[in-house]
Amino acid sequence: MKSGASRKIVFTAALAGNPNVGKSTVFNRLTGRSAHTGNWAGKTVVSAVGGFKRGNACFTVVDLPGAYSLRGKSADEAAAGGFIIRREADVIVAVADAGSLTRGVKFALEVASVYDPSEIILCVNLLDEARARGIETNLPKLSEMTGLTVIGASAANGEGIDELREAIARKCAEKERGGRERSLAATADPARIKKLCQTVRGKPDGLDRKIDKIILGVRGIPIMAALFGLILWITASGANLLSEGLTWVFAAALPAVRGLLEAAGAGADLTGFLCDGVLAVVCWVVSVMLPPMAIFFPLFTLLEDAGLLPRLAFNLDGVFKKAGAHGKQALTMCMGLGCNAAGVTACRIIDSGGERRKAVLTNVFTPCNGRFPLLTALTLIFFGGAARSVAAGFLAAAVSVGSTLLACKLISLASREKGASDFTLALPPYRRPRVLRAVAESARDKTARVLLRAVVAAAPAGALIWTLRRTGALDGFTAFLEPAGAAIGLDGVILAAFLLAFPANEIVLPVMLMCYSGAGVLREAPGLSELSDILRRGGWSAPTAACVMIFSICHFPCAATLATIFKETGSVKSTLLAAVLPTAFGAGLCAIVNFAARFV
Ligand code: GDP
Repeated sequence: MKSGASRKIVFTAALAGNPNVGKSTVFNRLTGRSAHTGNWAGKTVVSAVGGFKRGNACFTVVDLPGAYSLRGKSADEAAAGGFIIRREADVIVAVADAGSLTRGVKFALEVASVYDPSEIILCVNLLDEARARGIETNLPKLSEMTGLTVIGASAANGEGIDELREAIARKCAEKERGGRERSLAATADPARIKKLCQTVRGKPDGLDRKIDKIILGVRGIPIMAALFGLILWITASGANLLSEGLTWVFAAALPAVRGLLEAAGAGADLTGFLCDGVLAVVCWVVSVMLPPMAIFFPLFTLLEDAGLLPRLAFNLDGVFKKAGAHGKQALTMCMGLGCNAAGVTACRIIDSGGERRKAVLTNVFTPCNGRFPLLTALTLIFFGGAARSVAAGFLAAAVSVGSTLLACKLISLASREKGASDFTLALPPYRRPRVLRAVAESARDKTARVLLRAVVAAAPAGALIWTLRRTGALDGFTAFLEPAGAAIGLDGVILAAFLLAFPANEIVLPVMLMCYSGAGVLREAPGLSELSDILRRGGWSAPTAACVMIFSICHFPCAATLATIFKETGSVKSTLLAAVLPTAFGAGLCAIVNFAARFV
């Protein structure tokens, strides 16, 4: 607790509890933030911080990583446990799942060995889901038996959040007034917990078990592959339509802006710089990147909310083990699909150092949000209709997963490590995904963020390339890279684009477009079919597109990811390896495809 001269008081409340009980959802509701939520354990590895105000008091809210106990082994559990043990908060909100209360209450009682019960709120979340499963939760009885303040909540629809804010404020105010007498200590008494569970009546959820019998194991793999195929198919079919719509809008808007600038008396150079440099690149980024993202991200969020990701990890466990990798690596790769820097940090969920290092070094083989639109656009342009695009999508996934496993195996062999360790994976209940929420949240948290990053990075890149092109420096640079590019089925422009996109992968495509279009001017209306014309005029064929897709999956990580790898490993050698290994893989694979294409 801190208070300044003006009596403005700042308290800290921390949300703690088992993984996947809705802590981040409660956090988002309390603070208005947008921390990553999803139906699987292990997505919060770094505490998120937000806050809310009440009168002259400010409440900092910390969303701790999930933990089963205060002394857990993995880095994320240890961080949560350490925060509680060091008593860094004024109040702990122990969040529990109403559907599996015993574990949550056990955790809350463990917290009570560090905090006074008067400083703990037991938030019984997911009440809506428990009710739907016929589970009744007697909250007053629970409070009486544990000696803790109990608040019931369904954070997903906001139920109980006002009461929780109120309870946090009340407890902090009591504490500031000098605190109540120390409450009767709540103890982790196993007889007590058993009795407590008798206050909760309900029927076990047999449907989950039945679905798991089908999904888990060999039969589950084709089902999951079919779901992935369906998502690719919907993305491929829908992206074309959306792209056409955007092309039409920008084709009308660009000349209008040019006309306005000319009418306002802007000179030819300024009009060219703004329209052909900055604005044209921004329009291209939006029209090519937005359509696939707007469709793929919500669909992927639906799978995530349904609870399929940890089941994917379960099914892939055997394959990962054979490569000397940890089964949870599949989950860190799912995080990498969003952003590789986040994927690298997520590797903290892996306890063993060697396997964690492998997961860190190979996360870049998972194409992140920033690379995804390039892959989709090239698939749509060079591999034809939806069915062939789906096949190309599967091949891209095979390159990504295959390279990850091969690289893990090579690292294992080089470091002479023994086999991979066993682990416990919590399988969440199947949850009915909420479509509107998935659309709204993925639009706000994924699509808008990627687009903004792309536009922010691409606009100055567009301006820079426009300028470099006019001075001839760009031609010199691409000519210098041409022999190396040509040897592996690429060209100087493509290599230059990947190098210039080191700050952000999102700008590979815009940079290539700027380079290929005559005199750095993008006069075509932006859109997929125009993109196809520009690339084919630049000398591209299907094998070129295949090599660019491979190189996009297998090349050095972006600046932010490399910095995170250095932060997580603390080793320059590992950071260098993380850059060299995927680039060598990419160059090797491209050379093979380029060679094979001559015989087709
Ligand atoms: P955390 O791991 O404890 O931070 O859990 P999350 O906040 O990521 O939530 C896990 C999953 O439960 C997500 O899919 C949420 O959308 C879902 N969820 C969270 N709270 C509720 C709730 O009150 N009701 C329902 N039906 N789902 C919820």
